[in-house]
Amino acid sequence: MRLPANRDNIQHCAILLKAGEIVAIPSETVYGLAANATDESAVRRIFRVKGRPLMDPLICHFSSLEAVSAYALVSSQMEILAEAFWPGALTIVTQKRDRIPDIVTAGLPSVAVRIPSQPTFRSLLSAVDFPLAAPSANPFSYISPSSASQVEQTLGQKIPAILDDGPSTIGIESTILDLRNPNCPAVLRHGPVLPEELEQVLKLQVENKVPIVSANKKGDPDTQLAPGGMNRHYSPNTELVLLQHGSSEKISYHPEAAYLLIQRPAVNEPNRDNLFWLSEDGDLPIVARNLFSMLQKLDHLGYKKIVIERCPEEGVGTAINDRLERAAAKAR
Ligand code: AMP
Ligand code: MG
Repeated sequence: MRLPANRDNIQHCAILLKAGEIVAIPSETVYGLAANATDESAVRRIFRVKGRPLMDPLICHFSSLEAVSAYALVSSQMEILAEAFWPGALTIVTQKRDRIPDIVTAGLPSVAVRIPSQPTFRSLLSAVDFPLAAPSANPFSYISPSSASQVEQTLGQKIPAILDDGPSTIGIESTILDLRNPNCPAVLRHGPVLPEELEQVLKLQVENKVPIVSANKKGDPDTQLAPGGMNRHYSPNTELVLLQHGSSEKISYHPEAAYLLIQRPAVNEPNRDNLFWLSEDGDLPIVARNLFSMLQKLDHLGYKKIVIERCPEEGVGTAINDRLERAAAKAR
């Protein structure tokens, strides 16, 4: 059931979570499927409902840095990053304490933590006295949801509540930074917080310059760094084909395919029913915001193929392209 995000419904969802239920919730990144992170059987439900393998660990969400420190190691490096980026779309991997059950972390001694900024999510975190484990609220490997209606279409029958607070403002998942080795912070997943921003904050504060390495870009599922970085992810059921950035003029249109560009085509382009775009002028944060809802919409229009233009490799374009490559990857 979709519930508008007001005080009564937030309270209702807090009661469900305390009773070990799972609830879909808004966040500034994408909609999440939340459970009490300290309740093993509640967390198990997340995996079951999503069809997510148990080896793919979950991110835990907290209301404050003090709350984080009760469940995970907070290093001075992490404090600096928290000051700069929290609440916000940065997830940090650090050592866990015993209060986090193994099912959350796929048995790893580390845990991924984040303090979100979305007001309804924060109210919910304040209404419970435990962290919320929450992956994206989609069936495993399908398109991530950036709206409550997207969640309803896929998981609506399987969960007791979807807290609806409108579309996610960012629209793609958080950046994941691995801080397990203090000498080598590594970006495990590209996202809204850019490597150069992380580098700048760490360099400003830390005497020894620390490199940010993009580990696991191609998503080797065997790696122990970020075990969930699957090759195929965020994928529509319709075949997805990538188009080089800026090559829309070379398209030979086929009526059975949908074409999705980064920005509105030039005025002299003929009108076509099967031509869509993600922003007016190529603004990458807007492309990110619209990406997943547009993909899910096109997935239901009956096209044989979706052809999507890549972003330039700059700013959040790198994170979007990473999603596009995985969405277009064939199942193994
Ligand atoms: P999501 O798919 O948005 O739930 O993101 C979770 C991802 O975060 C996982 O697939 C891992 O790549 C990463 N992650 C979560 N927990 C850990 C952890 N304890 N150690 C390393 N990576 C983690
Ligand atoms: Mg996900």
